Amino acid sequence: MTFKNLQLNSAMLRAVKRVGYSEPTPIQRRTIPHILNGQDIVGCAQTGSGKTAAFALPIVQMLEPERGKRRIRVLVLAPTRELAAQIDEEFGKFSHESSLRHVAIFGGVGQQPQVDSLRRGVDIVVATPGRLQDLIDQGYVRLDQVEYFVLDEADRMLDMGFINDVKRIIKRLPKARQTMLFSATMPQAIQDLSKSILTDPVKVEANPHSTTVENVAQSIYFVEGGDKRALLKHILQDPASVRVLVFTRTKHRANRLAQQLNRARIPAEAIHGNKSQTARTKALARFKSGQTAVLVATDIAARGLDIESVSHVINFDLPNIPESYVHRIGRTARAGASGIAYSFCDVNERKFLRDIESLIRQPIAVVGEHPYMSTIKPPQAPTAERKAPNGNRSRRGRRSRARDRSRVSHHRAS
Ligand code: ADP
Ligand code: MG
Repeated sequence: MTFKNLQLNSAMLRAVKRVGYSEPTPIQRRTIPHILNGQDIVGCAQTGSGKTAAFALPIVQMLEPERGKRRIRVLVLAPTRELAAQIDEEFGKFSHESSLRHVAIFGGVGQQPQVDSLRRGVDIVVATPGRLQDLIDQGYVRLDQVEYFVLDEADRMLDMGFINDVKRIIKRLPKARQTMLFSATMPQAIQDLSKSILTDPVKVEANPHSTTVENVAQSIYFVEGGDKRALLKHILQDPASVRVLVFTRTKHRANRLAQQLNRARIPAEAIHGNKSQTARTKALARFKSGQTAVLVATDIAARGLDIESVSHVINFDLPNIPESYVHRIGRTARAGASGIAYSFCDVNERKFLRDIESLIRQPIAVVGEHPYMSTIKPPQAPTAERKAPNGNRSRRGRRSRARDRSRVSHHRAS
């Protein structure tokens, strides 16, 4: 299957070639023809499955250049600034040959450049809900000419408490429009929302259970809270740990951990919602370029970030929302690459682990021997011990296996 089979025109095929995509991902294969047919879409696919191009390519193709004053014809809502910036960038790549104008609208930076772009006229607006609402209230944005509306990462909009802002914005859109809703998971509230904003949508699910991230080798380290930092340093000594995304529960823990790693001469930075936009963009660029080996993030800061070739995702703290686990580890298996996800679990986090294992419908392999093994037994001791599936071991380097002599086994964390 190639992009040619998807009814994309020659300009779009050149765009795809220029960005280096050789064949469409499953979600692209299954949504692009429907979008080009003018149908509403609900797309459910794990992070890293290529959802941005799934909507951006057909939308750019469908936007005929117009004469006269520009009007906003495409609105994309995304939950975070970074994500909005990335989607806007992608629109830029795909509309390279056309005269379409696009702008990213998000908070945390001065509004004047955004207002200036809007005044000059744009066809495509990619926005976070808060800043967009501000600019609507100030009279800089009119949405009554929107033809294509995309709600990206709908589940995260919900988690972040944006859902009412989103609904308010949707009320301003014309009824006659094409709507595309994308989400990694489909909680009830999102199913309800999609019923109210979509007309006869085509439902596309590119990952049947929408919850497992198949290409990621996952394992659990049982460790006491106070030993997590030492365990992390131990893991980071592995030369295979080249680009490591570490998740903590809070901003404060992210900051402190990054500082502690720096003191141990491990180049690390924290990104989270309290940092200025400029600081976050710079931190991300340094991580992408390999200047910093470790990026410590909170869930909100990392959502949707397109960071290529993360070697490891490490859950320094397990998330209390099981879907966040799926989103997090999705960072290390972008577009078919395989990755490694380690999770630290102290005795208080056992319940989170149980929820995660029931969401992904599989037990996560336990690293049975490591220097910081927790001696605290969980309420009910694990039972049967099985050999890990080969896939799980073969992804790790032989050297690293030899070093920590890890014995990987399956335990039910019950
Ligand atoms: P999602 O929105 O589903 O999380 P993205 O749209 O951010 O995923 O895409 C994830 C990564 O995959 C990006 O780096 C993107 O450039 C890349 N990508 C998207 N489509 C393809 C493709 N057809 N072939 C190769 N890489 C792709
Ligand atoms: Mg996306």
